[in-house]
Amino acid sequence: MEGDALRGVALAGGPEVALDALVVGARTSARVHAFAGLGLSPSPHPMGIGDYLETDADGATAVPGVWAAGNVTDMKAQVLASAASAAWTAVVINNHLMAEEMERDLAAYRESQALTGA
Ligand SMILES: Cc1cc2nc3c(=O)[nH]c(=O)nc-3n(C[C@H](O)[C@H](O)[C@H](O)COP(=O)(O)OP(=O)(O)OC[C@H]3O[C@@H](n4cnc5c(N)ncnc54)[C@H](O)[C@@H]3O)c2cc1C
Repeated sequence: MEGDALRGVALAGGPEVALDALVVGARTSARVHAFAGLGLSPSPHPMGIGDYLETDADGATAVPGVWAAGNVTDMKAQVLASAASAAWTAVVINNHLMAEEMERDLAAYRESQALTGA
């Protein structure tokens, strides 16, 4: 630096490179550490722009029963895409809960039929 002007950068263990401007790519990191106890962990983004939480197209994570949506799963998403993915993931979660309830009710029904010999 010379005053408030960039003069160059000193490379680690190397020479100083004269520069007028320096562009730094920002990295983003999915804040999933709070869910590490569930087995969730971030993966490196294929484009090298940070870490994100991998899901399938429905928002299902690698942990059964845990879904995610929005920027944590899609770093390029803005408000509309984040909200749209969350709305679809909510539908999938609802379907999953309904299927689980139906399977439970069906099992109870079959058991009651077996007990009565019907
Ligand atoms: C500076 C900036 C400008 C932007 N401008 C635009 C724009 O003009 N138009 C546009 O469409 N998009 C814009 N975006 C992108 C947009 O803000 C995001 O895409 C959108 O908010 C993603 O929504 P989300 O619900 O996935 O995540 P977020 O909105 O980030 O919501 C995640 C929430 O989770 C909370 N949280 C995180 N960790 C924890 C935890 N451990 N426990 C409890 N809560 C937690 C956070 O506090 C946050 O409230 C901008 C983003 C930034 C950073």
